[in-house]
Amino acid sequence: VIESALQPDRLYANGRLLRDVALNVDDRGRVSSIGEPAAGATRIRLAGKALLPGLVNAHSHAFQRTLRGRTEWRREGVAETFWSWREQMYRVAGGLGPEGLRIVARSTFTEMLLAGITTVGEFHYLHRDLNGRPYEDPNELGWQIRAAAEEAGIRLSLLRVAYRRGGRSSGLEGAQRRFDSGDPEEFMRDTEALAARASEDRLFSVGVAPHSVRAVPVELLGDLAREARRHGWPIHMHVAEQAAEVTASLAEHGRRPVEILADRGLLGPDFTAVHAIEILPHEAAALGQALVTVCACPTTERNLGDGVVPARLLQDCGVTLALGTDSQVQIDLLEDARELEAHLRLTLGQRAVLARKGDDPMDLARTLFAAATTGGARALGLPVGDLVASAPADFFTVDLRDPSIVGCDDAALLSALVFGLSPRAVRDVAVGGRLVVRDGHHAGAERSSAAFERLQVSLWS
Ligand SMILES: [Zn+2]
Repeated sequence: VIESALQPDRLYANGRLLRDVALNVDDRGRVSSIGEPAAGATRIRLAGKALLPGLVNAHSHAFQRTLRGRTEWRREGVAETFWSWREQMYRVAGGLGPEGLRIVARSTFTEMLLAGITTVGEFHYLHRDLNGRPYEDPNELGWQIRAAAEEAGIRLSLLRVAYRRGGRSSGLEGAQRRFDSGDPEEFMRDTEALAARASEDRLFSVGVAPHSVRAVPVELLGDLAREARRHGWPIHMHVAEQAAEVTASLAEHGRRPVEILADRGLLGPDFTAVHAIEILPHEAAALGQALVTVCACPTTERNLGDGVVPARLLQDCGVTLALGTDSQVQIDLLEDARELEAHLRLTLGQRAVLARKGDDPMDLARTLFAAATTGGARALGLPVGDLVASAPADFFTVDLRDPSIVGCDDAALLSALVFGLSPRAVRDVAVGGRLVVRDGHHAGAERSSAAFERLQVSLWS
């Protein structure tokens, strides 16, 4: 049964910008076809708008939204780096209960929807209570994240994090005790309990995320990956974000992080390496050969002073690129897309660094937009990121007369969107065919902002 035929001025699908076609959506919220409006469908004219596949945010820590604006100065006597920021982040992580987590996640997911993000991969490592003990239901906080996603209306992949130690010779200290995922059997049992719910909810799925080679003993990694693959779950991991991580890995194992992952059989098309900044050419080659996805988080990486993802090298090696908002310092995935390229321009003194071919005015924009959509979909193992028959109708529209993109012909429009779109131009957002943002408004935004405002007062005063 055909339910609706959406008729925007422009539609972007399968790497092409189309004019005067309809997106036909069936009554289960899936794309049935693109072309003529289907017979009997309710026609919805989207005049003056372009319709694009919803953005896929492959790496998020929702609770870190509480830190925005709170860490942007130098404290006397402190060398401000990633590591001093991490101490500040741990203080917040140590103090959020179930209700607080749900409030910040709901507000953060709402902000994502307003920016055209329709799917989020939440790298979820808060497991235990404020004293480091398991909740009565060990998935208490995971359920809170899921409830927040449901209330906001976003598609969620909950990437359940395995976390066992602070480092080579340190156990779990302070806030880290909340990250403890238990022994491997416990971890799998709790993850399976979450996944059981995924089969009955089309907006919810599960993956596993060994936090890093620092936080998970390497001898556990192989079994974890085998178990994940037996279930068909994607595997995500923080890899080589900081030089100190690589130094510690060499000191403990005599091997660099990517070398360890290759040794232990983790690398594969279902594996996503988050960051992958401190890597050498032979490691990029190993990631490419195994058809791994690398999730870059450029707005966070520049904010934390992490460094630059060697995206050109990775792309040349055959790695798929995805993007994440990570610390939520900004929630604008197209800013991450343009920053991926801009970082390389600044370091190399060249332009159009990630372009794959010459003389195609859409090529670079297509590549960057793919990182923000199909790359993330691949990382999360979900059939989203493009508007093709039988895919979920996850999309957003933009106002073609918004000052940030007005005046483009078809050859320039996608580049203008990728390099200059203001999130203000996002008008409608649909997840699984259901409009959750209409004309720039989300029905729950006022309530979730008010709750978040109260939470911030209680956290920071
Ligand atoms: Zn992260």
